[in-house]
Amino acid sequence: MMWALIKKRLPKQIVDILVEKADLSELLAYASFGIPRAFLNSISAILDEECNITNLTRKSAFQAISESSEAQRGTFKSLARKLPRYEEFINLGEHLLDQSVSALRAYNRGIIPPKDKATEIAIEDTTTATFDRVLQLLQYAGIIREAGTVSRGEKGRFCRYSIHSAILIHHTAFALGRSFAVRDVVNIFKLRNPHAFVRRRETSLVSPDRVARCRLQLPGCKQCGAERLNDLQRFCANCGAELTTVSVYKELLGAKIEELPITSAKKEGIAQHTTLRTIQDILSDEDGSLRNVPRIGIVWQSRIKNAAEEFVSV
Ligand SMILES: [Zn+2]
Repeated sequence: MMWALIKKRLPKQIVDILVEKADLSELLAYASFGIPRAFLNSISAILDEECNITNLTRKSAFQAISESSEAQRGTFKSLARKLPRYEEFINLGEHLLDQSVSALRAYNRGIIPPKDKATEIAIEDTTTATFDRVLQLLQYAGIIREAGTVSRGEKGRFCRYSIHSAILIHHTAFALGRSFAVRDVVNIFKLRNPHAFVRRRETSLVSPDRVARCRLQLPGCKQCGAERLNDLQRFCANCGAELTTVSVYKELLGAKIEELPITSAKKEGIAQHTTLRTIQDILSDEDGSLRNVPRIGIVWQSRIKNAAEEFVSV
C-alpha cells in the first residue's frame, strides 16, 4: 500500500534509488508506523538541495528515524503546553512510554532471531481510569496504537499496544547491539511473530503514587453549577444531571485564541474587530470575519487558519 503511494507521489529517479536500496527504504517504511505522510517526511529529510536522494545511507536513514521519533515525542509534549491541566497526565504518559520501551529492551536482549523480538506491550485489563486516560492521550498523539486483546486464562485479559516504530528503533528497544544488519530491523517488523509481546500490569509500569498525583480540574455541572467532587464523577452530586466528559480534541477546539503562536497585535485585533474567541471559532469562520481586522489580508487569514489547524492536530 505504502509503495503504491510512493510511486505515485515521488519522481522516478527517487523511486529507482529506493528500489535499489530496498533494505533502507523498507526500514524507513516500517519506521513510519503505517503512516504514509511520515514515510514521505523521512524521505524528504534525506533529499539534498537538488532533491536527489543519493545521500540515502545507513547513517542518513537512522538519522531520519531519530528525528521522526523526536518529533513524535515533541508533539506529545506540546499537548501539555496547549492544555496545561493535562500536564501531569502527559508527564505520566512520557514515563509510561519510557518504561514500556525499557520493558521491551529487557525482553529483546540476548540471542533471539529478529522475527521473535517483541514490538508490542500487553497491559492487563485492570487499569485505573487515570491510566486509561494516559493511554488515550498517547493514542491520540499517535505514539501508541491498540493492537487487539489477548486472554491468558487465570492471568487475566491483556490489551495489546504497538508503540511507534521510529521511537522503538531510536531508543534501541530491540537490543541489537552495535553492529547489526539493517535487514535485521526490517525483519523484526516484516516477519513479526504475533505471540512475541511483553506482558505488564499497570502497577509494574508506573507507581500508584504517580497515578494518584494526576488530577484534572473539570468544569462544574452545566445544570446547577455545582462543582465536581472528582474528575471521574459521571453524574452531578447536587442535581443528578449527567456530567459531560470532555475529549482532548474538544478541549483543543475550545482553547482561547491567545494560545495561538501569532503576534499579540494580531490577537488584539481579532478581539477588537471580530466575535471570534476560540480556536473553533477560527476554524469555522466561513464568512471571513478575520478580514475585518486591520492588517489581516488573505495571507494572514490563511496563516492564522493554519495555526489553528496545527493547534488541534497533534
Ligand atoms: Zn447539577
